[in-house]
Amino acid sequence: MSDATPLVDETYEGGVTRIDSGLYRPGAAACYLLVRDGEAAFVETGVQRSVPRMLASLERQGLRPEDVRWVIITHVHLDHAGGAGALMKHCPNAKLVTHPKGARHMVDPMRLVEGTEAVYGKSQSLALHGVTIPVPSERVEEAPDGHTLRLGNSTLTTLETWGHARHHMAILDEDQQTLYTGDAFGISYRVYDRGENALIFPSTTPTQFEPEEMMRVIDRVDAMGLRWVHLTHFGRLPYRRALADQLGRGVERMVGFAETAPEEPKARRSHLTEAFEAMLMGDLLAMGISLEQAELRRMLGVDIRLNVQGLEAWLERRAAHAT
Ligand SMILES: [Zn+2]
Repeated sequence: MSDATPLVDETYEGGVTRIDSGLYRPGAAACYLLVRDGEAAFVETGVQRSVPRMLASLERQGLRPEDVRWVIITHVHLDHAGGAGALMKHCPNAKLVTHPKGARHMVDPMRLVEGTEAVYGKSQSLALHGVTIPVPSERVEEAPDGHTLRLGNSTLTTLETWGHARHHMAILDEDQQTLYTGDAFGISYRVYDRGENALIFPSTTPTQFEPEEMMRVIDRVDAMGLRWVHLTHFGRLPYRRALADQLGRGVERMVGFAETAPEEPKARRSHLTEAFEAMLMGDLLAMGISLEQAELRRMLGVDIRLNVQGLEAWLERRAAHAT
């Protein structure tokens, strides 16, 4: 796919539209628009430059910005929440819904932006995410585990889902047997779908990867009897047990090769990068997709880098606790 590939929205039954936020490359980061009985909710906001696409999508559904009741973010990482402030300015009646641990970062995003710059580098972060605008505190609704939101005649329930981050929640739409999983249930790009098979791998982005919690979330999702999962990276998948199995195996393998990594930082980074790339290439090969390392890096370079950095942060946290 080149940068000229158009960004495509897809509308599904039940009033759900997948919007491509345009971050990184086409087909990499999604937002969702939910419409029920004349009311709208966004799940995820992309970054600031995603907002015009989101408003255009709303208009195509015959709704106005005034009809948006909820802007829900699964967590405050900027590929999910970076556009929240800008979107809220356009939607005067909306409340921003976040895990309680994310709320203060949306009201005062300075630390969040600094943390993101530490991961991506300052200029790359600004180029990718744009300016992050604060959200007035009176427009923020904190959603602990089990919090419910009315949208038309539907009820959405927020579920605390750690493992990727402690400010992470998933959103359950029980009527549709659908879960919006953010980054709690892995990353899976549609470009690698082959029939029933999909590539899916954990997202261990810095700095709060917790493998035991992630496994707990995977099991919890598997027990929910879902028809669909909607991943932010990327899109809607019919739910099947194989996804949870592959994801769980991914967590185990990543923990396994992280635990055998050398301590010296440079050698550790090479070890983690090589092992993670080998894991992805092996999984792809098992699906009949043979990818050169250069192509893998071109397509999944951001994920590889973030996952490796997240494993490093996890190892360092563990070492600090052990002493
Ligand atoms: Zn993400």
